[in-house]
Amino acid sequence: MAGKKIGILALQGAFAEHEDALKRCGVDALQVKTADQIEEIDGLIIPGGESTTIGNLMCRYGLDSKIKEMEAKGMPIWGTCAGMVLLAKEIVDSEQFRLGLMSIRVKRNAFGRQVDSFEADLDVVGIGKTKGVFIRAPYVEKIWGEAKVLSEYEGKIVMVEEGKKLATAFHPELTEELGIYKYFLDKV
Ligand code: GLN
Repeated sequence: MAGKKIGILALQGAFAEHEDALKRCGVDALQVKTADQIEEIDGLIIPGGESTTIGNLMCRYGLDSKIKEMEAKGMPIWGTCAGMVLLAKEIVDSEQFRLGLMSIRVKRNAFGRQVDSFEADLDVVGIGKTKGVFIRAPYVEKIWGEAKVLSEYEGKIVMVEEGKKLATAFHPELTEELGIYKYFLDKV
């Protein structure tokens, strides 16, 4: 993966933290704001934030069609939290924009109002133990097709892989751990 450039969609949300983590992995990171920049990268992270806002901005700047085009050519994509929502084909009770690239049905803000955010110890297939920071997090209600569950928390699916795509309901960029980054970078 030396010489590879990873883009972080930098329209809204926690993109700077992903950039720092990628630098700690020793790869080139680029904040992506335009469709042209998508052409320059070898992999894309869609960060946490507000999925409706990120989705609207993505469409306004024509990034949606460019991301889909590059994904069809094999570009790996990883969505965290709001990014997971944007990758889903189905979002419970919502008509909001989504890229629809993963065979998952997500429920937004799914862990309940009384627990806005929490940390949990997770076990991830192929990676092992890792810490998960959940902030108004979604979970995955259902998967189908080629999608595979990589982690569950209290019986809820919180991490899924589908070919070169990854989705995490939690925020690895808010911990010191780089295990999931390395797993993603192996796809690049
Ligand atoms: N609840 C937010 C959404 O659905 C996601 C929260 C986050 O990314 N931390 O957009």
